[in-house]
Amino acid sequence: MKKVLITGAAGFLGSHLCDRFHREGFHVIGMDNLITGDMRNIEHLLPLPEFEFYHHDVSRYVHIPGSLDYILHFASPASPIDYLKIPIQTLKVGSLGTHNLLGLAKAKEARILVASTSEVYGDPLVHPQTEDYWGNVNPIGPRGVYDEAKRFQEAITMAYHRFHGVETRIVRIFNTYGPRMRLNDGRALPAFIGQALRGEDLTVFGDGSQTRSFCYVDDQVDGIFRLLMSDETQPINIGNPEEITILQFAEEIIKLTNSHQKIVRKPLPADDPKQRKPDITRASTLLGWSPKVGREVGLAKTYAYFKSLPEHELYRQASDFKDFIHA
Ligand code: UDP
Repeated sequence: MKKVLITGAAGFLGSHLCDRFHREGFHVIGMDNLITGDMRNIEHLLPLPEFEFYHHDVSRYVHIPGSLDYILHFASPASPIDYLKIPIQTLKVGSLGTHNLLGLAKAKEARILVASTSEVYGDPLVHPQTEDYWGNVNPIGPRGVYDEAKRFQEAITMAYHRFHGVETRIVRIFNTYGPRMRLNDGRALPAFIGQALRGEDLTVFGDGSQTRSFCYVDDQVDGIFRLLMSDETQPINIGNPEEITILQFAEEIIKLTNSHQKIVRKPLPADDPKQRKPDITRASTLLGWSPKVGREVGLAKTYAYFKSLPEHELYRQASDFKDFIHA
């Protein structure tokens, strides 16, 4: 049985990856320090003999006994509200954490895939974003702690590949959504659905003309799985190229939730990218991957998840977000 270590295992993407690798017949070791992760995302895996969980911060030395075949580094705060709250941890997990895991990959002769992001393109001047675009990032803005940690992560990963011959893979993840997102992470989708469910107005930042392209989590996980199993050491974008303005997106959520809420405007956060859409030519030609789930189906599944949460969760998780939009 092949063994895979997944960091950020209790998070949104990490927990879906644990499920997928378990289904594919791997022995899965999940690791998380639970700053932003939630054990409820993986509690169904805990009784399984093929699953282990380590409560550990990968910014500190990582020890795994025995052999290891694959490492997926998905530990990181990953939303604007998180970077503002825990900027130092965000920098450390992308830099020190990645260094530790590359060292582990080298010692175990394991293949490692690191989770990079469309944020490496910053507020992009090239549209749609191809992997050979170097980006337009403000290193000292509030998003800089995430963007620069991820850019450093890519640099050190390529250095371990070139200098030590470690088998590395880099995925650049574009906006992804689905069940197990946190209601209080400040992202547009859980923010809008949470507001609709609580009967509050939907907060659109700026004039809502900024665009994003939303990928359903199952498609994202499939792209990551294919990349890990491929020979591609260059970064690859995984995301859904169907682009939409945030205002249209808020209107879609109002329709989906059949709510009668209004849209209210709030100030645009600093360095909020004006447009974002992946060019997925490399993923489709090299990995044979393209997204399969459209927004209508993906949003319906995501909404069903949020609706199934106990009502008090809708309110408990919302409080951090309210502080954020009133700040
Ligand atoms: N956004 C918004 N209202 C909210 C939360 C987010 O208008 O209540 C906007 C945000 O400013 C951004 C877009 O929605 O332009 C997507 O935000 P998200 O945090 O989901 O992703 P990211 O900015 O990291 O792509």
